[in-house]
Amino acid sequence: MEPIYYWHIHHNKLYELATESIDHRIEYIKLTKPQHEIELRLRLLKLVKSAKAIAAMKAIKSAAEVYNEIIAPAEKAYDEAVAQAQEVNNKAMTLAWKVYYESVYLLQKVYFEAIELAQKVYDKAIAQAKKIYFGTVEKAYYDAIDLAQKVYKETTAPSQKAYNEVVTPAEKVYYEAIDQAKKVYDEAVAPVEKVYYETIAQAKKAYNKIVISSLEIIKEEHKKECIDCPWDGKSIF
Ligand SMILES: [Zn+2]
Repeated sequence: MEPIYYWHIHHNKLYELATESIDHRIEYIKLTKPQHEIELRLRLLKLVKSAKAIAAMKAIKSAAEVYNEIIAPAEKAYDEAVAQAQEVNNKAMTLAWKVYYESVYLLQKVYFEAIELAQKVYDKAIAQAKKIYFGTVEKAYYDAIDLAQKVYKETTAPSQKAYNEVVTPAEKVYYEAIDQAKKVYDEAVAPVEKVYYETIAQAKKAYNKIVISSLEIIKEEHKKECIDCPWDGKSIF
């Protein structure tokens, strides 16, 4: 179907392609728009007659279609590269986590059990110290706390040490694996991304060139056809 263009189907558009019967739009304006807007809206909403303007509008439309046709395959290639690299990355991350978890998990269990036990002893000592404090003197209270802290530190120190000895290298291996996976991902995606953005930039440039020159023509023809139009580039109001 031959495209039909109108001036000001909406108050914030210079021109538009009619996508449905214009009578529907006119009815809608009459029924829903504020009373004081209706006259102006209906006066300005009219068929574009200038062949030059219509040709320029069509040029913009086909430039947009060309743009989308150029972009679509580049976007597809980019999305595919990202998805593939993502999958590789996920696998590497899962594996790194598995290695880390297996080396740390057992020890972690022992460590947390030791901590829990020491905590219990500590809490008990503090509870007792509080009893002493409220019953007799402050010093005994603080002495008891100091002692409880000392006992806590001493009882947890060996498991803390053992824990650190395993966890620190395991963590190192884990973060190295993650870094490596990220590097692989970036290397896979970067060149495709570059092509993608270059394609977009180039297509955009070609598109903009057509839009700018066509819009000049449309604006000139609009001045001739749309007499006494308050259009300011953004709105008719
Ligand atoms: Zn106008």
